[in-house]
Amino acid sequence: MTSVIVGIILGVVLPGNEPEESVYKMEELPESSPWYGNEEIRIFRQYLTFPTMPPDINYSNCRLPPGAKVSQVNLFTEPTVKFLQQQASSLDLPVSIYYPVNQENPVVVMTWHGLDPSLSSVLLNSHMDVVPVFEEFWTHPPFAAEVDEEGRIFARGAQDTKSIGMLYLAGIRALKKRGAQRLKRTIHISFVPDEEMGGSYGLGSFVQSADFKALKIGYAMDEGMASETNEITVTNDERCTWRIQFTCHGDAGHGSILFDNTSGESFSKLVKKLMERRKTEAEKIKNLDLVSYANVTTINLTILKGGVQANVIPPELTATFDVRLAVNADHDEFQREINQWIEDAGGNITVNYLIKDPKANKTLADEKNPMWIALQNTAKEMDLVINPGVIPGATDMAYLRALDIPAFGFSPLVNTPVLMHDHDEFVKASTYLEGIDIYRSLIFNLGQM
Ligand SMILES: [Zn+2]
Repeated sequence: MTSVIVGIILGVVLPGNEPEESVYKMEELPESSPWYGNEEIRIFRQYLTFPTMPPDINYSNCRLPPGAKVSQVNLFTEPTVKFLQQQASSLDLPVSIYYPVNQENPVVVMTWHGLDPSLSSVLLNSHMDVVPVFEEFWTHPPFAAEVDEEGRIFARGAQDTKSIGMLYLAGIRALKKRGAQRLKRTIHISFVPDEEMGGSYGLGSFVQSADFKALKIGYAMDEGMASETNEITVTNDERCTWRIQFTCHGDAGHGSILFDNTSGESFSKLVKKLMERRKTEAEKIKNLDLVSYANVTTINLTILKGGVQANVIPPELTATFDVRLAVNADHDEFQREINQWIEDAGGNITVNYLIKDPKANKTLADEKNPMWIALQNTAKEMDLVINPGVIPGATDMAYLRALDIPAFGFSPLVNTPVLMHDHDEFVKASTYLEGIDIYRSLIFNLGQM
């Protein structure tokens, strides 16, 4: 998988023409706006104007700003890194940029040193990248961070997860304003690339590096989902992603002959097995909501490849499936099922796991975990209701939990429609500002554990 993605990225980078700031211009708010002159809102909006979309097969469907080329990955990462460096210096925080895989995928880490270096540190993680947009479905330009009369700030990444990243910094700024020079524990604030593409070019590789070990991370916070009520789900577990590419082999030849073992035959038998399995899972989800997907293994056929000409039987056909194993799934058992399906389909099938997440430990949400106590204290102070739960999608937290680092997913965006990856993604300015108080409290409680 690695070399494929390297090829995609390196193959599309064009030289030169790197602007110093975002290709999108942010309009200043009018003086009549209640948020005119609000520094926190201005910083958040500025971060939202960087179109940090990864290269994607749907990328040509995205309308880019005038003068920007679809393929200029550096165009988007470089100004973002510079912006984050400016933010770190305004907070008087040292900042390091790591490149665990390549120059196109920087990891930015700011550090607020603690008083007791013998204690493990706390990581506050968020991703810089966002998913592509289909601008024709947006009522506001997706990277202009426009604010409407209700105070809704529209932009791709407003919820997922640029708000989280800027709220960490705003929380620290609020603590410093109140005179907190240092907390007990060191706090690292990381901004990573590639999360939406699976994270192997971002946190997935960074956690394997000596640089990461040197950060001595003992606890981590990461992205959560907005909540439509005033209750917050603190995520402590997630399903495991397996992306499986099956290649069915067989006798090739003239399309007028009935050979015994064709790739088409084994392909149809194999796909039938997976679709039958999918059906049993689909039965389970009837009448369940999205969060209940935790206990369902989803199986979806996502890519088909093969064939050269209509009258030639191809020697191979490829089918790729996106599988998310339920949190309670037995991975060995599922592996045995896959092996059995291949055997039942004639056996002449090779398998390539594009992603095969190991079973990661769930983070304990109880009194034994000081991070859970810190969260509960914040909930009490801020009058919030928090409950542990499972996030339906996949996040970078899997990489942390796989190293036995307890990690919670959290979002202070309450009473907000869940619009991650959706058109017209927005956060209300008032909700964002309330989030600063929540993180001020939470970062303090985590730093004093
Ligand atoms: Zn995300």
